[in-house]
Formats: sequence, structure tokens, C-alpha cells
Amino acid sequence: MQSLLDIDYQHVLHPYSSMTEPLPNLMVTSARGSEITLADGRILVDGMSSWWSAIHGYQHPELDRAVHEQISKMSHIMFGGLTHEPAITLTQSLLKICPKGLTKVFFSDSGSVSVEVAIKMAIQYWFAKGHPQKSGLISIRRGYHGDTFAAMSVCDPVNGMHGLFGESLKQQTFADAPIIAFDEQWNLQDIESLEKLLQAKHKELAALILEPIVQGAGGMFFYHKEYLREARRLCDEYNVLLIVDEIATGFGRTGLMFACEHAGISPDIMCIGKALTGGYLSLAATLAQQKVADGISIDGGVFMHGPTFMANPLACAIANASLRVLLESPWQNRVQAIETQLKIELKKCEDLAGVANVRVLGAIGVVELSEPVKMREFQQALVEQGVWIRPFGKLVYIMPPYIISSEQLSKLTAAIFSVIADTARQPS
Ligand code: PMP
Repeated sequence: MQSLLDIDYQHVLHPYSSMTEPLPNLMVTSARGSEITLADGRILVDGMSSWWSAIHGYQHPELDRAVHEQISKMSHIMFGGLTHEPAITLTQSLLKICPKGLTKVFFSDSGSVSVEVAIKMAIQYWFAKGHPQKSGLISIRRGYHGDTFAAMSVCDPVNGMHGLFGESLKQQTFADAPIIAFDEQWNLQDIESLEKLLQAKHKELAALILEPIVQGAGGMFFYHKEYLREARRLCDEYNVLLIVDEIATGFGRTGLMFACEHAGISPDIMCIGKALTGGYLSLAATLAQQKVADGISIDGGVFMHGPTFMANPLACAIANASLRVLLESPWQNRVQAIETQLKIELKKCEDLAGVANVRVLGAIGVVELSEPVKMREFQQALVEQGVWIRPFGKLVYIMPPYIISSEQLSKLTAAIFSVIADTARQPS
């Protein structure tokens, strides 16, 4: 009989991989706390939180309970013409913790879709207000906002998928990426490129979209909070909406509940996802200020979006449990402790050959190499050290569950150190 891994290799497509000769995938049978169990019995410490989402670790008793309780009532019900308590409670809780001024919540199925929804809101807003020419978007280089088409159009035009999808993507405007890091001295020059473009093109721009403070999948760079503060000011000055993509940064990852809080700003529209359900199910949301809602519906206009699984009750019930668990936990102390430990332990990598930069913010640790890793070998070496870390390009990074123990975290950092050190010793 064909083994499951053979079938996987032959027929199951995995993210960003060859359709005919994919890299090997490991079979997982279960996950608990900060550990992943493989089919061959090996146990790996999780450094990825399943791409920023599993902040409480796996099989959390309260989240598990929420699944069982909700599924005994209903797993799903359409959201057109019907509503339910899990979505209403979640909306209320989100509005309490989100940056001030956000009053409307649109639930969708994934981060990318929440970005599409945000972009549609911005375009519809200006259309309804009698400015149909304000339909373009401005973003900053090195950004990442998802894999659907409008989201791709605002991803970094070089690292992103612009070359590949060429004419199919709307041409947007890109300002230079910020270069002043989170903990460096601020200089207004960093935002000059954005200011000039806004000045020149604001009449055709609906919104600026950016990831606040942490540019994630586009390069794992932490920029200065003054950049974000200035970006907010410029959007107001030039009458352009500000969409903030908190999909990766939301729910405490950078040390504050939302990365916007570092700059004390509120966006006009905000996207959240990933950790919203503690990594249990796919759920995202787009939040908007009252003025956006009032603008769109100025003459009885309706917002043109409605996914089948909008506000899925099961996902909303889990999100409610996840938020409760987060708010009742000492999450700030935990993230702070992870940051302190990462700063000490990852710093040792700075002395290794082939390491260009080490940076840490909240529960995110990044070791940037001077050359891209050889994925197959590098990944295997990390697994042999008993850890699950998935590098991309030149970036070896971790964002562990907040509940990780300090011993487990040390295992992750020690593995990073030793695999980079071994790689440097090997002939290229
Ligand atoms: N925006 C950001 C900042 C992200 O990090 C991601 C996912 N990595 C997305 C959007 C897209 O989210 P999803 O994968 O849930 O579609």
C-alpha cells in the first residue's frame, strides 16, 4: 500500500513549493503545549506557533472546551439575515481592546481576505463620497499582505509576486521601505519617500496600507514607531485612509496588544487574523472607523462582500475563549520574558560567520544571514536538534507560543546557534 507520505509527495500541494519535486514534509500526529509530535515518535519544540497563530500552544483545555461546547449547538450558520452570540460577543470584546475609534467589524475566513475587504472598504468609501478616482493604493516596500490578488498588488514589488503575475496585478504606488530600526535614533528622512508620493498622488489614492512596526514575511524588519506616527499624520494631511495590517502583530506578539499602540495611533481600517483563534481555526476580521461606515453607506450604499463562512460560530466561539485566556494570563510578562531571553541567547549568534544581523522585538527573534539558507539541509539539521523552525531566504526566525518554558526557548536558540555554526564550517 502506498504510504501516506508517498501520497502526500505525489498529490498534496504544500505552500510555496514545487508542484512536481517538493521538499519533504514531516508527518505530524499531534501537538500539545509547545511541542509537536511526529509520526516516528520524535518530539519537536515549536518555534513557529504555526505561523504566528498558536499563541497559547496546542490543545489548550479552555479552547478545546469552547470547541466542544459550540459544536454541540451549531458549527456553522449563514450570516446573511442571521446572527449569533459568539460573533456578537467577539465583536464586543474586540472593540474593547482594539485602538480607539474602530466601531465596525467584518468577519472573514483568512488574513488575505480581510485585506481584500479592507481595500474594498477604502475604495467604496471614496466612491460613495464622490471621488471614484481615489481607487489606488500606496504601500511601503518590503511589505507582505497575503496571497490573494489585491493583497499581492500591495506586497513588495520585488520580493513579492509582481514579476510573476505581471499584468494581472493592479499597479500600485510604493514608498521606500523604512530603514531606521525600532531601537535606533529617529530621523524624518526615513519617511520622505512616503511623504513625496502622498503629496504627488493623493488625489488618486484611496489608502495607505502597511504592517505596523514589524514588516513580517517581506523581511522581518522592525521599524521606528515615529515612522508609523508620521504615516498617520500624513494620511490625515493628504486625505488618504490608513489601513493597518495587524494580522501577524496583533494579540501581544510585539509586547503590546496591537503594534499600533507603540505609536499611539488608530488606523481608519485594521485587519486581524492568525492569533485571533489562538491558531485553532481560520478566522479574520476587518475593523473600521465609524466615518468609513458612514461614508460607504452615505446614500443607502451597502458594503459589497459576503463570504459563505463569514463569522463562523465555531471559529468565533474559539476566538472568544482565546481572548479570555489571553486577557486572564500574564501575557505581557511572558512576552517580556521571551524578549529578554531571546536578546541574551540569540545575541551569541552575532559572532558567527555568515550572520548579518540579530534582532528581537517582543516574542519575535530574527537571525539574518548574509546568504539564503539551503532549505533542505538546514531544515533537517534543525529537526535533528529537536526543534521546529522554518526559515525563509536569509532569515532564521522564531515566534514561539507565549507559554513556552525558558528551557524550551533555550533549546530553540541553541539549535539556531549550532546549525548556523555547523553550516559556516561546511565547505560551500
Ligand atoms: N498580512 C500579514 C502581515 C501576514 O503575515 C499574513 C500571513 N502571513 C497575511 C496578511 C495573510 O494571511 P492569511 O495567510 O491568513 O491569508
